[in-house]
Amino acid sequence: MESKTVMIAGGAGFLGSHLCKYYTDRGVRVICVDNLSTGRLKNVTALMDSGAFRFCQHDVTRMFDPGEPVGFIYNMASPASPPRYQKDPIATFETNVIGSENLLKLAESLGARILQSSTSEVYGDPDISPQAESYTGNVQTMGPRACYDEGKRAAETLFYEFHHLRGVDTRVARIFNTYGPNMDPDDGRVVSNFITQALRGEPLTVYGRGQQTRSFCYVDDMVAALVSLMHAEGDLSMPVNLGNPEEFTVLELAHKVLEETRSTSSLSFQDLPKHDPTQRRPEISRARTVLGWVPHVPLREGLQRTIPYFAAELTRNAAAAE
Ligand code: NAD
Ligand code: UDP
Repeated sequence: MESKTVMIAGGAGFLGSHLCKYYTDRGVRVICVDNLSTGRLKNVTALMDSGAFRFCQHDVTRMFDPGEPVGFIYNMASPASPPRYQKDPIATFETNVIGSENLLKLAESLGARILQSSTSEVYGDPDISPQAESYTGNVQTMGPRACYDEGKRAAETLFYEFHHLRGVDTRVARIFNTYGPNMDPDDGRVVSNFITQALRGEPLTVYGRGQQTRSFCYVDDMVAALVSLMHAEGDLSMPVNLGNPEEFTVLELAHKVLEETRSTSSLSFQDLPKHDPTQRRPEISRARTVLGWVPHVPLREGLQRTIPYFAAELTRNAAAAE
């Protein structure tokens, strides 16, 4: 089964590119499908030489025909950074809903297993902590985050119905904040913003008083979890939280980034974006029980592995601008 072709929609993005590398490194054929809206070809160019890798520029809101058998489909196609998914909210919603439906139909026609990259955002601004899969959320149909949150919630419903009504073998990963190499330095998420600001000696932009919390998972832990969820046998159609339960305030993150980069940057407190969730922490006992998975990389170590990547990106970008 593991020798079957793997299709990764959104494969040129941050998480998708790590999945592409994971499989090509193991000699598994990969089809990467991406419209390059927030992803970058450079994330996968090193894989192009491998005879096992094929890139197709395509928007998942239109049906895709791989033209060959596929055993496993990852749906990673969606902007994930708030400024980016809010830039074109209707496109974000359509990507998540129409894109998911198209990929589910493809999985059905190919007899492929399909995994959805859902999100902790399905819990909205949670009024319980930690958040378990049974929590139904404190969510809004309107507002700046709704295009993403509601798009992901509707996509989960599609996954649920394609499994129950049509027997498609589905998996739903509720991913909590994940960071690491291959993030776009300009994509506006907190880890990429803080590290690039610290490396440039610019003030770190802390939104609000920085008392909101997030739980940050290093990308290698997340890839291990996603692969494990994809290849575990049995009916695993129920959602599974994936993330690192260590919880930090945004202010604590800022100080850790300053320490690890040895930066003397100041902090610049800015307005808190509307509907910014106040806390987020995964309850991961389902992942531990069903997959035997727990994250291993603490935040400090993950930052140490991530900072050299951003330093190299900034050097490359500066050289290109000259
Ligand atoms: P990313 O923006 O780096 O990658 C998303 C990829 O999808 C990009 O390559 C983009 O070009 C592609 N894409 C977007 N719309 C598309 C479309 N209509 N057709 C084809 N390709 C399209 O984001 P990421 O952090 O790698 O996130 C990947 C997935 O994981 C997303 O679905 C996101 O919602 C989910 N997720 C990520 C996190 C996280 O912390 N990284 C947390 C929760 C959920
Ligand atoms: N944030 C911040 N400064 C930034 C970017 C983000 O303080 O430059 C905060 C943001 O308000 C949120 C948290 O960091 O509370 C995580 O933001 P991110 O955009 O990474 O993802 P989110 O979890 O909000 O989807």
